[in-house]
Amino acid sequence: MSNNTVEVEGVTVPLDHYIDGRRVSSETTFEVRSPIDWDNWKLAEVANGGQAEVDAAVAAARRAFPEWAALGPDGRHAHLTRLAEAIDAAVRDLATVETADNGSLYEAMSLRVLPRAANNIRFFADFARDRLAPETRTLHGGERNRVRYDPAGVAAVSTPWNAPFMLATWRVGPALAAGDTVVLKPPEWAPLTCSLLGDLADQAGLPPGVLNIVHGTGAGAGAPLTGHKGVDRVAFTGSPATAHTVYRDAAANLTPVSFELGGKSPFIVFEDADLDAAAATAAYQYDNSGQVCLAGTRLLVQHSIIDDFLERFEARVAEIRVGDPRDPDTTYGPLIHPVALERVTGYVERAFEAGANLAFGGRPIGGLYYPPTLFTDVPPDAEILHREVFGPVLTLQTFDDEADAIAKANGTDYGLAATVYTGSEDRADRVSAAVVAGTVWVNCFYVRDLETPFGGAGDSGIGREGGHHSFDFYADVKTVVERTALFSGE
Ligand code: NAD
Repeated sequence: MSNNTVEVEGVTVPLDHYIDGRRVSSETTFEVRSPIDWDNWKLAEVANGGQAEVDAAVAAARRAFPEWAALGPDGRHAHLTRLAEAIDAAVRDLATVETADNGSLYEAMSLRVLPRAANNIRFFADFARDRLAPETRTLHGGERNRVRYDPAGVAAVSTPWNAPFMLATWRVGPALAAGDTVVLKPPEWAPLTCSLLGDLADQAGLPPGVLNIVHGTGAGAGAPLTGHKGVDRVAFTGSPATAHTVYRDAAANLTPVSFELGGKSPFIVFEDADLDAAAATAAYQYDNSGQVCLAGTRLLVQHSIIDDFLERFEARVAEIRVGDPRDPDTTYGPLIHPVALERVTGYVERAFEAGANLAFGGRPIGGLYYPPTLFTDVPPDAEILHREVFGPVLTLQTFDDEADAIAKANGTDYGLAATVYTGSEDRADRVSAAVVAGTVWVNCFYVRDLETPFGGAGDSGIGREGGHHSFDFYADVKTVVERTALFSGE
């Protein structure tokens, strides 16, 4: 058994894979640096897995599956409750490591995001006890009709770096609660907190092989995993571009997929809205340096109120402090990686070239730090209106009336979320019915309930998770029809 670790701000982090309950190294490693001070802060060398490690992890998960499945929702509940408690107890350490690893605000991580990770595990463990019981009814001929939710097998989970630990638990929680065993491939740009999940699984006494973690790049470890014949479900969170590859690889084995992908979500403000509330929430779209799939990056504001709105919005944006994410006064930290900075810079340059007007921001401010940026007067076919930047860059368009707002809101291939600010309940009903989005927030933002469906339309995803929707995916749904009159009654 291998035991490579590193200290990150006083927290010991394992650097090896976690396969069959043991730490396993690889011949090669990949480098992880902190975006807080990219040039000077190397965090770790992490085991670089490939086909062999993936094969071993999938085999371990297959071996562990029958016993884990046989435990049933009640038996699994005890294990998963202990895992949630272990996460609760580790929240500060996890926040410390996540902040160093991906540049997210320490305060947001420790107070909101990582406690939610424990809830992801706890909620699905609780929910499974009710929802996985067979649904029974009697058919016209007197037959007993039962719908069973049986565990499907091995779930492959591949997640991105913008909230790596929480996003991993959002997939791992329902998969384990449904009775599947899991192989997780953490994101190579921020793999450290997912690595700690292996230690927490050990602490919680999860049987070996129930949860396995294979580090590596997307091509090196992700592709062999999502295309593996021994995998029964593929849960992928990431970009639409990668999803095309994952879909093709999974299709070779006809493996069902659940995709949660990117967005270019509209943020619509009508003239009857509470403008102070709308402007404050609009400025919040820069949160996490814009590296949020759900961010409402296209501000759509009714023409009649544009000046009033802009004045309030700019005042809110002026309060934003970009800097070290460990500092409690910081609003958001750095971009994740030099490649991300290059991508954001490229989008901004091309927006200029397309003739958009830069209202503010638009130039890096040192290291991987990028200021809040806004483009106005954007030509309708400009790339910046249609492609996800995944940085602190918003566009502002005006609209004349409700029909114009809806047409502009639906003007991309994405459909992850939409936010609407209006004083009219009737308008809220009409607009939320007409916009293409998995989630619509009216006069609020980012309110999430784990029991309700989450996902996206178009390029934003395939399928829905949350509540029983997760179990529809991670379980094999089976109908059993029985003519009970022919049972002997023994
Ligand atoms: P990405 O697609 O580049 O990578 C995501 C993960 O997939 C990484 O861990 C990567 O190693 C892995 N990967 C790459 N190739 C793979 C393959 N062939 N098989 C399996 N895994 C593979 O995305 P990213 O840049 O890391 O993340 C940003 C994207 O994620 C944005 O588009 C963002 O909107 C999206 N996202 C969506 C949600 C959501 O819930 N809808 C949440 C967060 C992020």
